Amino acid sequence: MAFVAAVLAEIVTIGDELTRGETVDTNSAFLAGRLTELGVCSVGWLTSCRDVRADIADALVRAATRAKIVLVSGGLGPTEDDLTVDVAAELAGVEPVVDEPSRERMERRFARAHFKLTPNNIRQVRVPSGARVFDNRNGLAPGFEIALRGASVFFMPGIPREMSRLCDEQIIPRIGELLAGAPRVLRRIWRVFGVGESHVDDRLSGLLAAVDPTAPADSASLHFNVQFPDVLVKVIARDEDEARARARLDRLGTEIRARLGEAVYGEGDDGLPAVVGAALRARGATVALAESCTGGLIGHLLTEVPGSSEYFRLGMVLYANQEKVARLGVSEATLAQHGAVSRECVEEMARAVRDLAGATYGVAVSGIAGPSGGTPDKPVGTVHLAVASMSEVHAKVLAYPGTRSQVKQLAAHWALKLLLTEASKQS
Ligand code: ATP
Repeated sequence: MAFVAAVLAEIVTIGDELTRGETVDTNSAFLAGRLTELGVCSVGWLTSCRDVRADIADALVRAATRAKIVLVSGGLGPTEDDLTVDVAAELAGVEPVVDEPSRERMERRFARAHFKLTPNNIRQVRVPSGARVFDNRNGLAPGFEIALRGASVFFMPGIPREMSRLCDEQIIPRIGELLAGAPRVLRRIWRVFGVGESHVDDRLSGLLAAVDPTAPADSASLHFNVQFPDVLVKVIARDEDEARARARLDRLGTEIRARLGEAVYGEGDDGLPAVVGAALRARGATVALAESCTGGLIGHLLTEVPGSSEYFRLGMVLYANQEKVARLGVSEATLAQHGAVSRECVEEMARAVRDLAGATYGVAVSGIAGPSGGTPDKPVGTVHLAVASMSEVHAKVLAYPGTRSQVKQLAAHWALKLLLTEASKQS
């Protein structure tokens, strides 16, 4: 297996509003995502620059010198500070010319809206002479492609809805054509919960060499990304042969699961709520919740998943002790003896809410989210969780001294993880 370098791509976004911090550069994120999904490019640089002729030229020349594919957004508007076409034409050694189909479309649109065309508007339908033009179906300024320093450079308007449509419908397919036959860069993500990043790193040390001892070191790489409370393990494999890269990812996946065990709960984009939902749906099960310190967060997470009404029965938020007693029949004796933040209390709540809703599972949480309310016995971050199935109750206690919001997030996700374990058991 030979090492193959991915085709390098770059993104340049142009606009004073970006460098002043007035507009968040979502175009770069969108374009980088699309290039990555193509599976043949590696995005090496994201550059943003002002609407200044010399800066635009500098950014474009640097990008085109380093990369094979460059995507550019912004500065295609009608005003004098929209300089992108002029700079691109100058760098390509040609003149800007009016793109007739775009001009005609603009005239028709203006006529329909009874707007008067100004000379400025014509600026917006110019492209460098000889450029390959892409219609802008959501706006006026066309996109275009020029060759520069050995790179194919694609220009798009800055307005996100114009840029995204142009990109998806015309530019990505064109790049796909240009890079047909390029080595594949495949990515896969494993989602891990309940093990910290450093432990995940530790358990996966030497993974790539262990799975493929003879492969060149650079033909696969391992990356970690914390999306609290999950840790994402991402593997990138590069190969001229797609099937071989895929087989390699499969082997790595088997080893990752072997080393991390149950902590790996899924692959790809679906987080715990979606994975739990799929498990409940698969066995035709339903769930009811009795939440205290999570304040409805578990219910929110579960109901963010489309189709959750199939399995989500009831969610109660019971903050005050007397509500736990009045609504769910938690015994006064339990509260007096063990307190509301106790295994005994959440077990009673889980059973009671399951029975109240006639659900397959009852889930209960009670804890101290902080920043006050902790005691030496039960410091901030102490959270008791329980999941009651038809026949048994499983409980867990957490001790995570984070912020209020982190404690809530962690508790809600642990509750989902316990529920997943129950819902995944062979019946
Ligand atoms: P138009 O052809 O309509 O004038 P343009 O190509 O000149 O578009 P800009 O004037 O640079 O685009 O930007 C228009 C608007 O699009 C900005 O005010 C901003 O709201 C949004 N925009 C521009 N660039 C970006 C970006 N990189 N990320 C997110 N939004 C952006």
